[in-house]
Amino acid sequence: MPDISIITSVREMREWTAAARAEGATISFVPTMGFLHEGHASLMREGRKRGDLLVLSIFVNPTQFGVGEDFESYPRNLSRDSEIARACGVDIIFAPDAREMYPAGFQTWVNVETVSLPLCGASRPGHFRGVTTVVAKLFNIVKPTFAFFGEKDFQQLTVIRRMVDDLNMEVEVVGLPTVREADGLAMSSRNSYLSAAERKSALCLSRALDAASTLYRSGVVSVARMREEVMGILGREPEARIDYVEFRDGENLEERELADDRTVLALAVRIGSTRLIDNVIVGRGITWKEKC
Ligand code: AMP
Repeated sequence: MPDISIITSVREMREWTAAARAEGATISFVPTMGFLHEGHASLMREGRKRGDLLVLSIFVNPTQFGVGEDFESYPRNLSRDSEIARACGVDIIFAPDAREMYPAGFQTWVNVETVSLPLCGASRPGHFRGVTTVVAKLFNIVKPTFAFFGEKDFQQLTVIRRMVDDLNMEVEVVGLPTVREADGLAMSSRNSYLSAAERKSALCLSRALDAASTLYRSGVVSVARMREEVMGILGREPEARIDYVEFRDGENLEERELADDRTVLALAVRIGSTRLIDNVIVGRGITWKEKC
């Protein structure tokens, strides 16, 4: 099989996508930062099914990283990513460099207000401005029919849906469930930072989410009661340092004191020096292989 084509220039990507659209093709688009895993693969496979053509972008976007965060050390492996992309039926990879996306003189930002503020927006100031700006740029370059995002980054999905609605962007945003390792850990490129011992400690996130959603599904709606359970589980893990534990409405991200079926429990926890996020819609719960 020939190697998959990688486009690095905005102009070429626009030409490719314009030709595809001129032929009436629908375009599925999966934006990522690379170092692909099964979570990304689930988005690519769904994209393959929905659209005539499938575009994957790989871009470690500097503007969504804060000072002192892991932009430099973020894992990268384009040749391995290309293999995975090919196996998932990707037609073209768009992998620009930072100068291509942010040439000298760049000064325009997309900022979604209220839903960008809490949770990761509070812990990582400027993060969502970087995300929405790069996603808006990628949408303008690729002009996709469908764009696929993971619920793993629940707030990001909410923020992007808001941007697409507010700016009347002509793309259908599709959110897909979090893919987990067999023991419950949500897949993430950042899991590669964890030592073997930290990898075990990191299971406290999925255990805490599971315990809270089990309580909810047994009839408990008090957020205080569920929070107590979550704090207990995270607190017993010596390696875990809590960034936030929040119960929010799944659509507008407003804080909740009483849970209902669309309430999301969102966690950000540091395990050693690695910051992990995970979440559950309490009414839906989570499952993983070793639990089934
Ligand atoms: P990233 O490369 O981490 O920026 O992620 C690219 C896309 O993959 C985002 O829409 C993420 O939400 C999604 N994603 C990351 N991890 C997972 C996962 N474990 N399950 C499903 N989607 C994921």
